[in-house]
Amino acid sequence: MATLVRILRHTFRFPWQSGFSLIMAVACTVLVLVLPGITMQFIDVIIAKKRPDLIIPTAAIGIGAILVRQGIFTLRTYYNNSLEMKLTHLIRVELYDKLQRLPVKWFDSNSSGEIMSRVANDVPTTNRVIIEGVDQAIAAVLQFIIVMGYMFWHSWQLTLVTLIPLPFIAILTTWWSRRSEPMWRESSEATSALNAILHDNLSGIRQIKAYTVEPKALDTFDKASRKVGEKTMSVMRGQALVWPGVSFIAESGIILMVAFGAWSALQGQIQPGVVVSFLVAWGFLFDPISRINALAQTFTRGIVSAERVFKIIDTPDEINLTEGIRPEQMTGHVQFENVSFAYSDEAPTINSLTLEALPGQTIALVGATGAGKSTVLNLLTRFYEPTAGRILIDGIPLDGVSKEWLRDQLGYVTQESFLFNTTLRENLQLAKLNATDNEIWDALEAANAAGFVRASPDGLDTIAGERGSRFSGGEKQRLSIARALLKNPPLLLLDEATSALDNTTERLVQQALENLRSDRTCFVIAHRLSTVQKADRICVLHHGKLIEQGTHAELLELGGSYSKLCEASFVEK
Ligand code: ADP
Repeated sequence: MATLVRILRHTFRFPWQSGFSLIMAVACTVLVLVLPGITMQFIDVIIAKKRPDLIIPTAAIGIGAILVRQGIFTLRTYYNNSLEMKLTHLIRVELYDKLQRLPVKWFDSNSSGEIMSRVANDVPTTNRVIIEGVDQAIAAVLQFIIVMGYMFWHSWQLTLVTLIPLPFIAILTTWWSRRSEPMWRESSEATSALNAILHDNLSGIRQIKAYTVEPKALDTFDKASRKVGEKTMSVMRGQALVWPGVSFIAESGIILMVAFGAWSALQGQIQPGVVVSFLVAWGFLFDPISRINALAQTFTRGIVSAERVFKIIDTPDEINLTEGIRPEQMTGHVQFENVSFAYSDEAPTINSLTLEALPGQTIALVGATGAGKSTVLNLLTRFYEPTAGRILIDGIPLDGVSKEWLRDQLGYVTQESFLFNTTLRENLQLAKLNATDNEIWDALEAANAAGFVRASPDGLDTIAGERGSRFSGGEKQRLSIARALLKNPPLLLLDEATSALDNTTERLVQQALENLRSDRTCFVIAHRLSTVQKADRICVLHHGKLIEQGTHAELLELGGSYSKLCEASFVEK
């Protein structure tokens, strides 16, 4: 109920349109009485009292009224659809806005496919509650009351007999509505899971092909798809039983009504026209009831979808996203003081880390895979918050500053250089919204990327392809270095690519990186000897602990973990 009220509250944002829609629903409903009324007029007045002169005017009034009713119906359909589109847009944008304000941690436990399913499917289904659900439910209740009033007016005895099937129908549909709700929920969850698998598999299509695991992927998809079918079928099976049951009760009611009507007419209690008129009106009386099943289904599905949408909307925003301290300038003095962090309740990923970077220094993070190097960068960007200890920038504790400000000061070049499927210009302008083409070309030059961009037929207008598929690994890296250069941030976080590049490309990338590193504090996850040699300090991480730190020469002399790492991975360089 609370969810329903919440959905309805959205319609209040369009009070005129909602009000107008409701008025038209009432008008349409009142005009349903035309058909039974006219029928009765024909039988009891025109035929019984032999008044042929009334045939044409009565028919004309009838046709006119039906025309008006259908005209209003057209308007109502148009208005309702436009209201639904507006509401869908409103909630969809609200949901997307929310998604952007959720912490990175939230995305760890919610798959992209599932989220897409909520935005693409659940939002429209939610709004169907308003249009198909509320609007039609109100129209149905109104129609029921008006037609019943009309019937009572002509014969209360015949009306009571007509209503006999009603309680049975009510019991059956209420029971079914309750029973089908969890079924719809399961069906909806199965659809989300299917979408999640589809999204995951499409993202990893190259891996699937490269490892020739298509049959296994197909099997997973097949099972998930089958589950959607099974869950939906369990509802449909129920519908297949309930729906004819409702029709059986309702139609048996017609026989009962006509039988009692015939008996009353024979007794002379009512005119035969009343019975025929009841027969016509019956259609209008039971039309809302027959729609209850579909309506109940729309409601149930809509509420399930709305709950899923509202669950995201109610998730608390990332803290300090916009609010918090915004210092004038950042010099890039970074301190970690006894920082610990765990992704979950298990063992900490970062354990009492203390380290310092003076402005302009380059700190190289080295260590085996899983040692916690990326996590250190994730803590600096505040994608995650330390569970103990604190990080300071220019002496200011990080948890007090606005994340927007912090991220404005950061350049983050990740190993997987992500490009959006739009023009290179727009991809680069992410770093600086109004960057001119000249500025962009300068950044591309410094990143050793100008050559291949110039060689592309569309230059800066070249579309990068999904995830930047149009460009090679080395090219993408240089483009993302250019992006960071354009931003010109005081603090740079760099995850050096592990993928082997050919010597020429490697040299070009290294040069670009040097241009990028100059004059700013830089944390680099280092995989290459040349990088660590140039670093002011090398920090060796092992299971989230800082076990050694110093310059390349100092650490080699120490002969500890670093020198072993060097032998193992950097030595061939
Ligand atoms: P490195 O960069 O040194 O290879 P990471 O910082 O990426 O190491 O990871 C450190 C540990 O944290 C690993 O055991 C990894 O599995 C775990 N980890 C990384 N990211 C997440 C995450 N989003 N959720 C849970 N665990 C994670």
